[in-house]
Amino acid sequence: MHILVVEDEPKISRFICRGLKEAGYAVTPAFDGEEGRFLSDSHDFDLILLDLMLPKLDGVNVCKEIRKHGRAVPIIMLTAKDSIHDRVLGLDSGANDYLTKPFAFEELLARIRSQLRTPAQVSPNHLQVGPFHMDLLRHVATENDHIIDLSSKEFSVFAYFMRKPNEVITRTELAEHVWDLHFEPNTNVIDVTLTHLRKKLTSPAYLETIRGRGYRLRSQC
Ligand code: CA
Repeated sequence: MHILVVEDEPKISRFICRGLKEAGYAVTPAFDGEEGRFLSDSHDFDLILLDLMLPKLDGVNVCKEIRKHGRAVPIIMLTAKDSIHDRVLGLDSGANDYLTKPFAFEELLARIRSQLRTPAQVSPNHLQVGPFHMDLLRHVATENDHIIDLSSKEFSVFAYFMRKPNEVITRTELAEHVWDLHFEPNTNVIDVTLTHLRKKLTSPAYLETIRGRGYRLRSQC
């Protein structure tokens, strides 16, 4: 899952980006409203964290621009003041949720998981496909109740497949959503990661290679 963080305060931006990376997300920072709007237009992010007070273009206007183009990406607005006026303004401009600074990082992560929940998910913290289960909160993946020992990147890749069972996921899609904007498309890092991931599964047949197209996680074998 790839998150755009639009925040002009370098210290806060670094803090958020580092925490999100540790939680397994791919992260791209933007430092003013114009940059945020440009990046959100040119790239398919899974979620946008948007500061309200920004240079060049404020959060409300960035949000309105994104919605004007019909993009349904979840947007969580970060506001410095907890005034009803700011909250209403943010939600009216098309944000899905808001969070008042300063916030506990755990709460930010919970709000993000809640926004990224797919309709089929019972809880925002758990994914279940076939014999596989992922606890996103505790960062634990299991196959028939046995723990699969995944690296942070493998966990992110597997979670992406778990959210889209039986769908063919192309390498381009994986690069966009699991790696970040500086990803070098001509390397074989995706195939290598998938090979490692598959070796860790007791039933690797669930994770199919679709020749010339990409990969697919089956819900049945
Ligand atoms: Ca700001």
